[in-house]
Formats: sequence, structure tokens, C-alpha cells
Amino acid sequence: MSSNEAKGYNKKSVTDIDVNGKKVLLRCDFNVPIDKETGKIRDEGRVIAALPTINYLLEHNAAIIACSHFGRPKGEYKPEFSLAIVAECLSKHLNKPVKMAKDVIGEDAIRLASELKPGEIMLLENTRFHKEEEANDPAFAKKLADMADVFVSDAFGSVHRAHASTEGVSHYLPAVSGFLLKKELDYIGGAISDPKRPLVAILGGAKVSDKLAVISNLLKIADAIIIGGGMAYTFFKAEGGKIGNSLCEDNELESVLKCKEEAKTRGVKLLLPVDSIAGSEFSNDVEPLTVDSNSIPDGMMAMDIGPKAISEFAAEIKNAATIVWNGPMGVFEFSKFAEGTRAIAEAVANSNAISIIGGGDSAAAVRKFGVADKITHISTGGGASLEFMEGKVLPGIACLLDA
Ligand code: AMP
Repeated sequence: MSSNEAKGYNKKSVTDIDVNGKKVLLRCDFNVPIDKETGKIRDEGRVIAALPTINYLLEHNAAIIACSHFGRPKGEYKPEFSLAIVAECLSKHLNKPVKMAKDVIGEDAIRLASELKPGEIMLLENTRFHKEEEANDPAFAKKLADMADVFVSDAFGSVHRAHASTEGVSHYLPAVSGFLLKKELDYIGGAISDPKRPLVAILGGAKVSDKLAVISNLLKIADAIIIGGGMAYTFFKAEGGKIGNSLCEDNELESVLKCKEEAKTRGVKLLLPVDSIAGSEFSNDVEPLTVDSNSIPDGMMAMDIGPKAISEFAAEIKNAATIVWNGPMGVFEFSKFAEGTRAIAEAVANSNAISIIGGGDSAAAVRKFGVADKITHISTGGGASLEFMEGKVLPGIACLLDA
């Protein structure tokens, strides 16, 4: 038995079941970004990412009832949150009609679903038009499930939430993963349950409080943990360093000291940035100054890791067989403070390790610095990938059939 099986990440996927002639309720992530001025989809990436599972199902003679949330309509119908815009986009990419239902579980959806033939696809309206979606209401979930024979989940970005369309429907239908979700399970699940060693975790970003749970879990798994970004300065202050105006969460000083102690006890290397690039205020219009991270002058704020930190971190990354990365090394949005994140992105991209980027800002960084195609796996879910790496049971994964 592999560790993935032991941890419960070994789940059935769409290729493990017979979908021929079946009606498939397919949960996608169609929460696409909209251009405020034109009202059009700004980035069709999420629609394109859903195509492999959709094409597989259509080619295998299934009828697809696709569904998704979209924005925050707060439990009521609001035309600006209609998924009709996605149906149009999907139809363009599939080169076939996508029937758009006027509602989610109403008369129109039920009629269209009952008339749907194998090889056809329809899209339900935004699941969040009903407050029962986020409340994971069983009656609402059953109505969704009643339209189909099988549930395929392909919205990794939502599996950390027990909502009706991500978890509730699995109480009424056999549930399996689509290709997108399977890839996340294989890579992130593999890295935290049975990694090729050494496993090097890189954590950054602004708030240490957001990352304590993931540090705590990775201390049990990783061989080395690299800490950069604003969260690093709480560690320096906790050890009696001077951090000027750098980000710090004073109520977490004890927690970070505990992390350091635990790392020592467990023999996990914990690397902090020995030097930093600081500025006189949170702005790109300041003179950057290289400083030691434990003696940052008064009035200065550390906004990036320094050159010594970059070379120490890069050496550790070079040595890794598996890398997981979540959170930038500095304020990479400011050109004067982007070098640390850029250098780490390049080090990760140029390593021979299996590299996994946990969505959100680090995914944006590897794209910005043009190295995304050298990364093994870029997660589609920021929050979900963080909770996954925290070792939490994610309801939208736990509910799938075991392989
Ligand atoms: P998070 O959402 O916690 O992953 O934080 C990401 C944000 O942290 C990015 O927008 C970065 O600009 C910001 N950030 C990273 N390092 C620093 C720093 N040293 N000081 C202030 N903000 C930072």
C-alpha cells in the first residue's frame, strides 16, 4: 500500500468508472475573472482547463450536466452572476452547443437535464444563486443529484469547502474525480504523503498566522523549510532581532519560537533570510537598502530577501528532489523588491526536482517571471492547496470513492 492510499488520497477518477450512456453531474471551477469595463471574460484559463474532462466524457458517450459557482451572489439570482457568459465561451472551445439552463434546480434545469442525450452538454445556473449551496443543504444537494447518475468533481479550488455541489451530492451519487482534480491529488497528495527526498518546502507571503498550520504539518514531512516574505520578520523579532517597521505579528512570537524548537527536535532544516532589502516606506519609490535581517534600521521596512539569502535558498533548492512552494519572498509587485521572488522562481524552475506551486501569488510569480512551463505542477486552488498541505481532510476529496 502506498502512502497516498494510507492517507486517503487514492481516489477513483473518471477513467475508473463506466460513463457510457450516463448522465454526469460535473462540478467545474467556472469562477472566471470578468473585465469590469467590457463585461467579458478576462482570462478563459479556467474554462480551457475544464476541457480534457469534458471532452473525455463526451467522447465516452456521457451526457454532461455541468455546474459551478461564480462570484458571490449571496444566495439569490443576480443577472451579473449568470453563467450564460461561460456557456458561450465553453461552446466556442468545444465547437458544439452548450445548453444553458435558466435556473439551478428549477423546472428549466430539470427539463433540460431529462431531455439531454449522450454526447450533449448543458450548464446549470450559478449554484450560489441558492443559499442552500454554501449551507450544504441535503434537500438542495438531492435535487442536484437527482438529475444525474454519477458525480464527477473537477473543481479543486472548491474541495476545501463542504458545499452542496462539492460534497453534498456525493451522498446521493457515486463520486469520482475529473482529470484536473486527479492531477492535484497525485502531485500535492504525493508530495505530502510519499515525497521523493529531500523535500524542500518554501513558504512566504505576508502573514505568518496564515501559514503556521502548514509549517506545523510540513515540519513532520519536509527535510528543509525555507521561510521568506513578510512572515519571516516575526521569527527575527521573536529571537530578539531588530526589525524596524517590517511586518510582524506580535501575538505569534511564541508560536514561531515553537516552530523553531520543533524543527530542531525533528532535525528539519529551517532557513530564514539572513539579509533583506529594505525601504523607508511601503512603496516602489524608495531607495532599496541591503540590511541584515536581524538588525533592520529604525524606520526601515524589509520588503524582499537579500543576496546572501537568495544564494543560501538557491543552494538548498538545487539539492531538492521535491519542492513545494507557497507565497512570495517579498513584495514582488514592486520592481525594486521583486528580485528575491524572481531568483527563487528561477531556482525552482531550473532544479531537477518535482516542483509544485500552491496557487495564488506564487503561481502569479512564476507566470510573471516566465518560468511557469518549467514547473511540474501549478495548483489551480490557492486556499485548497494550502489546506491540503496543512494535512486537513478536505471534504470534496474525502467524499470521492476510494480507488
Ligand atoms: P499572502 O497572501 O500571505 O501569501 O501574501 C502575499 C503578499 O505578501 C504579496 O502581495 C506580497 O506583496 C506580500 N509580501 C511579501 N513579502 C512582504 C514583505 N516583506 N512586506 C510586506 N508585504 C510582503
